[in-house]
Amino acid sequence: MLKAIQNLGSVAYYYRLKPPHAAKTNAFVSTSAKPLSCSSPITRPTNPFMFLTRKTRSLGPVRAHSTPSESKMDGTSSSSSGSARKINFCQWCGGQTKHDIPDGEEKMRAICTLCEKISYQNPKMVVGCLIEHDNKVLLCKRNIQPSHGLWTLPAGYLEIGESAAEGAIRETWEEARAQVEVMSPFAQLDIPRIGQTYIIFLAKLKKPHFSPGPESLECRLFSIDDLPLDSLAFSSMVVTLKLVRALF
Ligand SMILES: [Zn+2]
Repeated sequence: MLKAIQNLGSVAYYYRLKPPHAAKTNAFVSTSAKPLSCSSPITRPTNPFMFLTRKTRSLGPVRAHSTPSESKMDGTSSSSSGSARKINFCQWCGGQTKHDIPDGEEKMRAICTLCEKISYQNPKMVVGCLIEHDNKVLLCKRNIQPSHGLWTLPAGYLEIGESAAEGAIRETWEEARAQVEVMSPFAQLDIPRIGQTYIIFLAKLKKPHFSPGPESLECRLFSIDDLPLDSLAFSSMVVTLKLVRALF
């Protein structure tokens, strides 16, 4: 059911080759450097938004790149090259680190001068829900920085001990006070420059209730034609919602 994998920091787009009902394995193909358009090999969905039967529309310009807001989503920032932030102290023992390329590796690493362990840095995973209800999509207006006052799907950082779907459900509760059932993965997006990868799940409300949580000013259902594409918090949300408009 995964509809798209997209790399926001480069030019690779991936789409599922077969409709969801036709294949049990996930098969993807890269479509080279072309931006998404009607001619892209997007497989039209057979179900999840079946209420929306409109003709597939152009995505328009979707080659978004990471925004300052995204790079500061957790209050930190990373270098423009996508390289790791400088780590000055060992995450294991607190000792001072030196920066060197270890034997057998190719990248500069932070190596502890005391215990000699390497402090690796890995991308962070952001998980969220694309919630359909009454032919509309639920969005939250952010009550926190970055991007205060702008709209987003309920989403946030996956925490240790959670599955991706559990994290998306938790974030939805925190931001929209909505209890949801995850139906399937919808899209996976990478922003390697800032070390983030997104998984957005298609979900539905268990009960037709939602209200803004502490991190939201407002929660509202938007029709596909009325999505606030000019007032979205992150480029990842722009891409995801343009994908929604194009597919459905
Ligand atoms: Zn150490």
